[in-house]
Amino acid sequence: MALQALFSSATAKPNLATDPMTLDPATLSVAFVLLAVVLGSLLLFTWTLNRKVRALSLWGVAFCLLASGFVVANLGHFSGTYWALLVGNALGLSSYVALYAGCRDFNARKAFVPLMMTGVLVWCAAYPFIADDLAYRLILFSLTTGIYALLCAWELWRHAPQRLASQRVAVFLLVLLAILNIMRAWLGFSLTSIAWIDAMAQRWSSEMALFLVVFAPTLAFIFLSMAKESVELGYKRAAFIDPLTGIPNRRAFMQHAAQLLQDVEGRAVSCLVFDLDRFKSINDGYGHEAGDKVLRAFGQILGEHLPPQSFGRLGGEEFAAILPMGMEDATDLAEAVRSALSKAGKTLLGPHAQVTVSVGCSTSRQATIEALLQEADLALYRAKDHGRNVVISARSLIAPQQI
Ligand code: GH3
Ligand code: MG
Ligand code: MG
Repeated sequence: MALQALFSSATAKPNLATDPMTLDPATLSVAFVLLAVVLGSLLLFTWTLNRKVRALSLWGVAFCLLASGFVVANLGHFSGTYWALLVGNALGLSSYVALYAGCRDFNARKAFVPLMMTGVLVWCAAYPFIADDLAYRLILFSLTTGIYALLCAWELWRHAPQRLASQRVAVFLLVLLAILNIMRAWLGFSLTSIAWIDAMAQRWSSEMALFLVVFAPTLAFIFLSMAKESVELGYKRAAFIDPLTGIPNRRAFMQHAAQLLQDVEGRAVSCLVFDLDRFKSINDGYGHEAGDKVLRAFGQILGEHLPPQSFGRLGGEEFAAILPMGMEDATDLAEAVRSALSKAGKTLLGPHAQVTVSVGCSTSRQATIEALLQEADLALYRAKDHGRNVVISARSLIAPQQI
């Protein structure tokens, strides 16, 4: 986009007598080039410090490409404009490709670079026919950059795996960039036909350059914030998610349970403790990998039957859940989980596989999570004693219900 300023900057002579404030496009352009190089280098430098967010390197390259495009196009003043404008603008468009590739990479989506280069290729193919026409060059370049900016905004809005606050700001900035580019393309349609629009187009160049000097650091700052937010979210996830099953770990479960007990204020809360039966023999008979597969499947079953975040892996083959409901409803859910696992086990390890789970259930109106877990554990021991593959509630210890 910066390059459009260049198109008309060559002809934009500030009129000191009539302009209330004179913005010198050449000075602003130099400032912008230096700024873009510094910002691009800073983004690349930040990426080398923490290579987790590869998008930072692509965005760094985008800033550097934009600066180099600007310089190459300006060289035209000294070395002839034909090749300078062709290459300079192609570099400018490539910077948008890198910007878009960065956005896709940030969302962990593949970037099909040859397809994404379409805009650059169209520019190179069309250039010989429009080299002498400022208006057509302006229209093609600005529309293409506008479309790239819209694609970036769409990518960050539509395909974001998580809604980061800074990502929303980035979407806003990119939409703004797209609108400005498309408006500038519209100027190209009117150029040389209406005198006052012509004048505005020239003045627009200075203001566009000024806008870029403000806009570029803002965008770079937002990109850095996005990277920071996403890395922090990654660490937070790692601290609260069990890596094998992808469900909450013990720490997350205990936190959620403490919060739930605080929220329910005297209403019944039930705790379920699940322990996979004879899991050691599953590992021994089918291999550790198969055991891991069963653990993952069980995590998925819990997710399908219980409210989100209400369960977690306590460790090994032990899981727990905390539910804001009485014993009867909780044991019904536990039974659904138990039965789902024995079905899933046959699909996973074959029709003769015995993949089952024993469940202990406790219910209280005021106990702590530690007390609930302890009581549910006692019920679980009884479930193991009574032949496994059963749900036993703490109150029915005397007459366990074989299910
Ligand atoms: P019980 O019915 O009495 O609970 O018998 P069990 O064999 O399930 O109990 P035990 O405590 O003897 O064995 C638990 C096994 O779980 C032993 C351990 O190797 C296995 N295990 C723990 N964590 C993992 C894991 O992440 N992956 C796999 N594959 N196995 C695990
Ligand atoms: Mg165990
Ligand atoms: Mg076990």
